[in-house]
Amino acid sequence: MLARNEEFVAHLLSDVVEFARVRLPEPTFRIVEPFLRHYYDFADAEDLRSRSIADLYGAAMAHWRTAQRFVPGSERMQVYNPILEQHGWHSDHTVVEIVNDDMPFLVDSVSMAINRLGLALHSALHPVFRIWRGKDGTIERVDEGGASAGDGQSQLASFIHFEVDRCGDAAKLDGKCGACEFKQICGGSRARAYALTGNPHSEEPCCAYVPRNYVPPVRTVKSATTLHVLQGA
Ligand code: SF4
Repeated sequence: MLARNEEFVAHLLSDVVEFARVRLPEPTFRIVEPFLRHYYDFADAEDLRSRSIADLYGAAMAHWRTAQRFVPGSERMQVYNPILEQHGWHSDHTVVEIVNDDMPFLVDSVSMAINRLGLALHSALHPVFRIWRGKDGTIERVDEGGASAGDGQSQLASFIHFEVDRCGDAAKLDGKCGACEFKQICGGSRARAYALTGNPHSEEPCCAYVPRNYVPPVRTVKSATTLHVLQGA
């Protein structure tokens, strides 16, 4: 059974590579190919089996684009709900995508943060790649993490792709976003809402728009006279 799974995964990944070959310009394909061949190295076979070639290609290429903007010594994170028309692939889950210099405990730290939010983890990938960049930061060559550093001009980068319970469902939004007529197409920044309030479904803190049907919550402020009476009571 194990051999059949390995055979299946190898076949699937070679289909992903062929899918890329006919879509990417030849020079880009040559750089991306090793990335596509190893992106799913330790993926769960059943998880891969449940996805289309187009979605496997789309998810890997989305991460590749995030890595293009990564500056070594920093980190790059993207949290999004993949929509075919917008991201080139689809998933029913929310994706947490990270590119970071390779270091210990990265995966554990992200897993703990997701646990703290009470979100279930549906899929996890964390390949490591050796990356050579040009002067402008563009990726010029990539190889699997175990490859020799060779000329010493490369860096090891950790790629984390987690899929968790879908966040930002319009029906779950609170406050202004929950009442907003644009919530299906906007929904605000869930990352910013979570960072400022600890609740990923709270209203977008930086939006100046007041939805047409929004009724602000009534805040009870006790007058000085009332407080005085209460204190004396
Ligand atoms: S309130 Fe603002 S951020 Fe929230 S859904 Fe409406 S337009 Fe978007």
